[in-house]
Amino acid sequence: MAHSTSSLGIVSGRLNDDLLNKNFEDLHAPLSNHEALVASDRCYFCHDAPCMTACPTSIDIPLFIRQIATGTTDASAKTILSQNILGGMCARVCPTETLCEEACVREVSEGKPVEIGRLQRFATDNLMAKNIHPFSRGSKSGKKVAVIGAGPAGLACAHKLATLGHEITIYEAREKGGGLNEFGIAAYKSIDNFAQKELDWLLSIGGIKIEYGKGIGSDINLDQIQSDYDATFIGMGLSGVNSLRCDGENLHNVDDAVSFISDLRQADSLSNVKVGRDVVVIGGGMTAVDAAVQSKLLGAQNVSLVYRRGKEDMSASVYEQELATSKGVRIIYNATPLEVTENGSSLDVKFGYTESIKSQLKQTGETFSLPANQVLKAIGQNLSNQSDELKIIDGKINVNEHGQTNISNIWAGGDCAIGGDDLTVTAVAQGRDAAVHINSQLMK
Ligand SMILES: Cc1cc2nc3c(=O)[nH]c(=O)nc-3n(C[C@H](O)[C@H](O)[C@H](O)COP(=O)(O)OP(=O)(O)OC[C@H]3O[C@@H](n4cnc5c(N)ncnc54)[C@H](O)[C@@H]3O)c2cc1C
Ligand code: SF4
Repeated sequence: MAHSTSSLGIVSGRLNDDLLNKNFEDLHAPLSNHEALVASDRCYFCHDAPCMTACPTSIDIPLFIRQIATGTTDASAKTILSQNILGGMCARVCPTETLCEEACVREVSEGKPVEIGRLQRFATDNLMAKNIHPFSRGSKSGKKVAVIGAGPAGLACAHKLATLGHEITIYEAREKGGGLNEFGIAAYKSIDNFAQKELDWLLSIGGIKIEYGKGIGSDINLDQIQSDYDATFIGMGLSGVNSLRCDGENLHNVDDAVSFISDLRQADSLSNVKVGRDVVVIGGGMTAVDAAVQSKLLGAQNVSLVYRRGKEDMSASVYEQELATSKGVRIIYNATPLEVTENGSSLDVKFGYTESIKSQLKQTGETFSLPANQVLKAIGQNLSNQSDELKIIDGKINVNEHGQTNISNIWAGGDCAIGGDDLTVTAVAQGRDAAVHINSQLMK
């Protein structure tokens, strides 16, 4: 096979287009009508349903499943979307195995939950395919709200505010909206340009303007925004990347995993995406798993995911870890990076084994090294704060239970604010809830 060449063995086109397309197929195929009826028939329509309590957006799950079972799929989609306007994306990316499906009584009794995520996708995809938007803009309030960031938190906030009649302008630093739905989520979880389709569908409510390429701090400052608008919601996510804090992290081909995934998501063709033969991913969350799995699917020969604590401490769920190993990723637990060195035309990553003693992580003194052409850092992201006046706690914007910051006309939510789980669904919940509070304050 003809590869493009590159120093240190990172090349594009390791696999042919057919294989790449196959590898990056939809992770879970959509349900057919018949399959959806069969899946919905397994629901007990529980009173005080535990699945609903486990959903961060509190979707009325028994109701939407009953609506599918009775053939009223549009109503089912409306039930979902009235709580979670990005219910289509969440149906694809939510770790349901640790949320609603983990709590489902059929999981508890039989080890096989009702397929809530796939049913949610069935209902929302059906509605969107008909290009129906089931909500309308509220009558004009005369109030203007600025939203910083067109990611899940910002979009959920903007949509809710539009239903309440406010005029919204979203300032988005990038040239495209969707946030990590567009730039971060693994390609096989969101195929066919779904993030942009969902964004267009969401905006069809009207009353929301997006100013692309306008970053707060770089192109316009927060003081200006505050004086131009009645309220501001910050949903800017976490754009900084944590450092490994070990020697050699600035060497060529030691890259950050989020940028690797972002380049993959934006590539015109997967055959243009470069990947090493031996890839070492360092981290323990979804980003680490997604970077490792996608490296493997692009044709890397050996992919090792190295995490400093044990399997049970990893923030990627057991399901995600099993997905990684099923794709051929080797996961090494209890090892921390010590240094990256150049070794001829490739790299060597030296690790020290660790152990937890009374929840303190200690190195055992034993070490090992892995050869790598490419090292991907996935050890978390951090806030790029744009105001000295906003109170920051543990690297995130401090907010109260309504999402309000220490500055009374500024709210924040999603990954940049305290209180979420760094999931799409929690970002949506926080954006939505902040919008309700903004409305109550503006309309006092
Ligand atoms: C690689 C990766 C994979 C993930 N996979 C999953 C998954 O499978 N399931 C899941 O539930 N969650 C997943 N997550 C987490 C999820 O994507 C986030 O929790 C979610 O996107 C947070 O939404 P947000 O709106 O707070 O921030 P973001 O999605 O980060 O959106 C923030 C937006 O603000 C913009 N912005 C930033 N700075 C500025 C500025 N100064 N001015 C204007 N605009 C600005 C950004 O360009 C961006 O559009 C993943 C995260 C990563 C990194
Ligand atoms: S817990 Fe399971 S069975 Fe009960 S309502 Fe929820 S999805 Fe249905």
